Amino acid sequence: MWRMQRTALVVAAIVLAASLSFAQAQKRSTPKKAPAATRPKLVVMIVVDQMRGDYVDRFRGQWQGGLKRLVEQGAWFRAAAYPYATTETCVGHATISTGAFPASHGMVANAWWDRNSQKLLPCTSDPNVKNSAYAGGTTKGGDSAWRMNIPAFAEELKFQTGGATRVVTFSLKARAAITLAGHKADAATWFDAGTGAWVTSAPYAIMPFVDDFVSKHPVTGDYGKTWSLSLPQDHYLYDENATGAGTVEGWSTTFPHALRGKEAGGAPDAAFFEQWAASPFADTYLTTLAETAIDSLGLGKSGATDYLGVSYSSVDYVGHAFGPRSWEIQDILVRLDQDLGELFAHLDQKVGKERYVVALTADHGVAPIPADMQKTGFDAGVLSLPELQARIEKALESFNYARPAIAHLAGNELYFSQGIYGQLKQDPAAMKAVLDAASTMPGVAAVYRSEELVDGTTPISPNHRAAVLSYFAGRSGDLYILQQPYWLTDSSAAGSKRHTGTGHGTPYYYDQHVPLLFMGFGIQPGEYLTGVTPADIAPTLAMLTGVTLATRDGKVLAEALEKHSPE
Ligand SMILES: [Zn+2]
Repeated sequence: MWRMQRTALVVAAIVLAASLSFAQAQKRSTPKKAPAATRPKLVVMIVVDQMRGDYVDRFRGQWQGGLKRLVEQGAWFRAAAYPYATTETCVGHATISTGAFPASHGMVANAWWDRNSQKLLPCTSDPNVKNSAYAGGTTKGGDSAWRMNIPAFAEELKFQTGGATRVVTFSLKARAAITLAGHKADAATWFDAGTGAWVTSAPYAIMPFVDDFVSKHPVTGDYGKTWSLSLPQDHYLYDENATGAGTVEGWSTTFPHALRGKEAGGAPDAAFFEQWAASPFADTYLTTLAETAIDSLGLGKSGATDYLGVSYSSVDYVGHAFGPRSWEIQDILVRLDQDLGELFAHLDQKVGKERYVVALTADHGVAPIPADMQKTGFDAGVLSLPELQARIEKALESFNYARPAIAHLAGNELYFSQGIYGQLKQDPAAMKAVLDAASTMPGVAAVYRSEELVDGTTPISPNHRAAVLSYFAGRSGDLYILQQPYWLTDSSAAGSKRHTGTGHGTPYYYDQHVPLLFMGFGIQPGEYLTGVTPADIAPTLAMLTGVTLATRDGKVLAEALEKHSPE
């Protein structure tokens, strides 16, 4: 009995001591507040191709869905702009994806002249891979990110978190889906407008859910639909018929726009795919694909941070044809606003509010249509590149140069035939003749020689600085020829139908200014007026996800991150 009592006492004492020390330990380690998730479950990178920054200011009153939610509940950077000159799709997406400028990532244009093969190379063309089409479709060529010299943020995220991260991207354009994903990814899917097929290539896995979705929902299922105005007519700014508007094949310059191909013949043709890509139905399709990816792969549920990239291409096709002051641009944004509202509601439900972070931006803006701008009385026009080329060839006639001296001239980049530029650099009189011929052409603002653009050059003007940030030796042209503001370069042959619609690709602010918004996990909502660039997105997402980027021209947007006071 005594023994038993003693044992019981000892046991009681041990239990008491243990529970006391457990209580003390608990007290010591009890945090002051419940621990929050330390990382977002999902990063959602949204790019709206050609969405100019001021569209948010001007058209936000027309929005009720996801765009409105981003503006009202997110961090809105109102003065975001690319600082470089080559404001094109491949360049912008590579900048968003890597956090670096073209002088670093090397994607200098949608396509550049390859001096070895004497051919134009699309930025994603890869001779060592083959594209494959989903759902029994057909496609050709091979595309990858092998020419992008820096890993995408998404790649670093997957690499540094031990591989649990899934990286999935969608766009109509290969150069958008691929650059957002990076060199390898779980899935990168784009649209072949020539055949109507959804496509991927070897560095990305074939996804059964994409095959299934595309089989059940072929794009041709939208044949016969009509794009009509979503809002009452008096909700639209500007004229119903935009001055100088071009058009999409088979469409007039005013609403409604029927998706019936070239001649409403009853079957989908090449013109139908063009119409579809320039309609809100393509944005809705991409949104549904993205939602299917969230559900099928359980994005946001892997335990790591997943990455979903969607680049909406249709605003670009619409903007090129109808311009920034059109009902079409306003209406497609109204429809995209609805799609994004739907996407965010889906994310709230499947991943959880505040458990994902969204970034939205654009790859570039757009110039006003020159004929529309001329109505203000301001100088605006079209710079004929074939005429410019003929002028330079003529200037070299009195010098002893092989003909033709120019191998390729497109956009703002001039490439001489092999050996010619080396000769010109040793021949001041001939070089002067070339530069004079180019710079005195009406519509030309400046001509920069490639040796004036190499890394380390001290810029003499903002446009010069922009051209320096764009220059990549071996890929960029021998001369960079900049048009005047409100002028477009045009490659159509002399005497052929002149340019209608508009474009982008310059260092002017209408091309550089883009929206930049964050929303969700870790984001401090508000309006921010500091000048920032889309290269700041990847470093900011890297900060939120605990990832280190090797090269970054951008910076962390610290003012838009939630402040956590030290314990
Ligand atoms: Zn474009």
